[in-house]
Amino acid sequence: MSKYFSQTLGGLKQYVPGEQLNDKNYIKLNTNENPYFPSKYSVAAVCDDVLNGLRLYSDPENSALTSAIASYYGVDKNNVLATNGSDEALAFCFAAFGDRGVVFPDVTYGFYKVFAALFGAEQTQKPLKKNFTIDVNDYLNVGKTVFIANPNAQTGLYLDLSAIEKIVASNKGNVVVIDEAYIDFGGTSAVGLINKYDNLALVQTFSKSRSLAGARVGFAVANEKLIEDLKRIKFSFNPYSVNSVSERVAAAAISDVNYFDDCRKKVISSRSRLINALEGLRFTVLPSLANFVLAKSATLGGEYLYNALKAKGILVRYFDEPRIKDYVRITVGTDEQIDALIDTIKNLESAK
Ligand SMILES: *Cc1c(COP(=O)(O)O)cnc(C)c1O
Repeated sequence: MSKYFSQTLGGLKQYVPGEQLNDKNYIKLNTNENPYFPSKYSVAAVCDDVLNGLRLYSDPENSALTSAIASYYGVDKNNVLATNGSDEALAFCFAAFGDRGVVFPDVTYGFYKVFAALFGAEQTQKPLKKNFTIDVNDYLNVGKTVFIANPNAQTGLYLDLSAIEKIVASNKGNVVVIDEAYIDFGGTSAVGLINKYDNLALVQTFSKSRSLAGARVGFAVANEKLIEDLKRIKFSFNPYSVNSVSERVAAAAISDVNYFDDCRKKVISSRSRLINALEGLRFTVLPSLANFVLAKSATLGGEYLYNALKAKGILVRYFDEPRIKDYVRITVGTDEQIDALIDTIKNLESAK
């Protein structure tokens, strides 16, 4: 840190992303990316015409992408804001709605506490229940901005729509942000509620279910007034936050509904294969509706497993946090990747 760094942010603990290593060819099951190729429509969208378009600034309204997202969800264009990854949409929510304080679970997406610190929002973490589920009662009438990932990050556990609606309905005086990064792997989006509740903001991403993590595209869906608030933050920060190539690629991907459905079905079916195989090895596995599982070995510690798998060329995620340190988080890869993982774990167990 230089002597010039902000004094108010002096204690800022930055977000630590999962490893993106290039030293060898890993089976990469650590950052919940999608193992399948992006939509062929997306590939076709990167034509000379689009590349030539890089000479110009991107469309600050991202009209093509915003329309494509709005039509997919059957909402109005004014209900959608495209962003540079959903991380940016979340950041805008903290900037716009964080000053009354924010509430989120103790085990969840690690960025929430970083954004709270960066944007000066006073944060309250509500402990998940012992079985890692969210206690809905913790989020009723809180008078602060609520952030809930559904399915929740790190656990993969899903809250059904009636629970989400109960939380939103009881918080009329503040915004409830539902981060639906993993909703496409078996849950039901709360998008149908945005016209009923003017305090509900949904955040989604193209990174997981649409195989476009590197394109950095996410979006918010909400009542028009909330979208205006988020736009106000965006246009005070970076009016061109979604670049023109990513915009075209993402708009093409969201129109390719059949391919999207094929890919998510494959992930959902491989998730069952992964859970069954891990349970066969006496792992405890949380019932996930995401493209990852949080799993605990009966014999091998979380940190040990992470390191031993890494040495064998398989990356999973380990969190040095008290409540989940015995676990590893494993992204649902292809069936072949899962089989390689399971074989490797068997070998590790017999070597111990
Ligand atoms: C991956 C993830 C995101 C961020 O995704 P982007 O790549 O920035 O779109 C947001 N929230 C949760 C819960 C995630 O797991």
